Amino acid sequence: MKKLLCTLLLIFCLIGVYASEAFELVDVYESGITDSVFYSYIHKDTGLKVVYENNDAGNNYAELIFRTPMQDEGDLNHVFEHSLLSGSDKYPSSYLFFDFSHRSYLSSVNADTQMSSTAYHAASPSNEQIEIYIDALFSLVDDPDLIHEENIYRREAIRYDLQSVDGPITPAGTVFNEDVGYITDEVRGAVEGGQGTVSGDVCIEHDWTAANEPGR
Ligand SMILES: [Zn+2]
Repeated sequence: MKKLLCTLLLIFCLIGVYASEAFELVDVYESGITDSVFYSYIHKDTGLKVVYENNDAGNNYAELIFRTPMQDEGDLNHVFEHSLLSGSDKYPSSYLFFDFSHRSYLSSVNADTQMSSTAYHAASPSNEQIEIYIDALFSLVDDPDLIHEENIYRREAIRYDLQSVDGPITPAGTVFNEDVGYITDEVRGAVEGGQGTVSGDVCIEHDWTAANEPGR
């Protein structure tokens, strides 16, 4: 998981805690469009990339992005995106994402998995709140409850649901429901189809049972 962290990390926020000897400043860019100055750093020990955007916006925004190329049609990265948000030793919870959503002073918080990346992001007018959010994300990456409790993965993965003895067995789960929404979204389908045409090897079809196979 730490390897993942080293792969790609972007942080946009208004706090200056990352300007230290641990980071090498590699680029400064002034944007007239956003009236911002972007500072790009490399963390010397791990190689992770950090982008710090400084402007007068009232909100602080932080985002961590991991390079997670889609391995097959099972949407496994999406299941892990949800599972990782369950909790950590430092931030114990039954599902920490709900604490972010309902018990914090974050003006927005969400996560999403695309075909080649997974992102966790939040915003808050409070420096303290955004720092706590970043600290919680690092704890989730460093030692998530997911590693110690397999049922977290089972809960978030696509599963089969039987409501009554004589009822039908149907696929269920948050990730499943979101994915059904994605593949029935005509605009999204058109965009992904276009990407597949351009790249030639992009996987755009989904096998809903693949993410729930034993051993995955
Ligand atoms: Zn999702």
